[in-house]
Amino acid sequence: MHEAMLYSQKKGTPQVVVCGLCNHRCTIPPGRRGICGVRENRDGTLVSLVYGKVVAEHVDPIEKKPLFHFLPGSRSYSLATMGCNFRCLHCQNFDIAQAPQLGDGTISGQPRTPEEIVARARAEACASISYTYVEPTIFYEFSRDCAELARRAGLANVYVSNGYMSPEAAREIASWLDAINIDIKAFTDDFYKKVCRARLQPVLDNVRLFHQLGVWVEVTTLIIPGLNDSDAELKGIARFLYDLDPAIPWHVSAFRPAYRMTDRPPTSAEQLARAHRIGVESGLHHVYQGNIPGEGEDTICPSCGGTVLARYGFMLKGQAPAKGQCPHCAAVLAGVWE
Ligand code: SF4
Repeated sequence: MHEAMLYSQKKGTPQVVVCGLCNHRCTIPPGRRGICGVRENRDGTLVSLVYGKVVAEHVDPIEKKPLFHFLPGSRSYSLATMGCNFRCLHCQNFDIAQAPQLGDGTISGQPRTPEEIVARARAEACASISYTYVEPTIFYEFSRDCAELARRAGLANVYVSNGYMSPEAAREIASWLDAINIDIKAFTDDFYKKVCRARLQPVLDNVRLFHQLGVWVEVTTLIIPGLNDSDAELKGIARFLYDLDPAIPWHVSAFRPAYRMTDRPPTSAEQLARAHRIGVESGLHHVYQGNIPGEGEDTICPSCGGTVLARYGFMLKGQAPAKGQCPHCAAVLAGVWE
């Protein structure tokens, strides 16, 4: 049993707890779990049911997160436990993310210690550990213990996140996190409520907060035909990022029907190119297309327009530039390059 962090007893009813890890702030009576399905109240103590129970573990290129301006070309030891605090109808990893709700509540996974995770990452010559595939906030305690050891071993730490952690959790996480990719899944609260059972504003607040706290931030939007892909909505996301920092990379990725969203077609190459164009015309320095390899994947220098780093899918064509310096005009591009 691993006691959870960031919770409190409810005033007047000490057996009931309030979880402060994410913006759902679940009130959990004894014997019950929060929305994520992996934090349970046991007689007034909130416990993490997923500590050290790893259900997915792979060595990925960092480009797969996607992070294009963070140690490009490096390998990232990537792991997940079960569970998620969102209920996205189009979840690509629902078999592990939604497992606590879809099954009988059993939490499974290979037993791992933080020491084992860091040792494996080093043995695989990884430069970082990525907490990914499901929302990593829900296995915060395990990710934190791995991350602190990883830092001491010279490894970086990466979250691939829906950005729904509470502000107090975000500040804790930022103290040991090096980079984060946050989904802005749409630019309307209506989408977040109906498709994800969450809200938009906390996500935007966390994009801003992680950026302010000095964590390297990239943003991803899955372009879903007819749901979040109007010009106005895409311009809204691009404008938000531009106002925050035009150097924040924006990844617009192609949707594929999955889980409970099989009623619409995959994103076409033309639809993806339109989203890309909107980002560029909005003034963003780095806009990338994802999930349809071959277009819009190269890093272009915002100063001279030359190609700094060409890619195909997750593969680099050539070496990442030393210190992020453009080989044509010597401008230094935003990111963490070495
Ligand atoms: S992490 Fe979020 S969803 Fe899970 S129990 Fe805590 S507040 Fe609820």
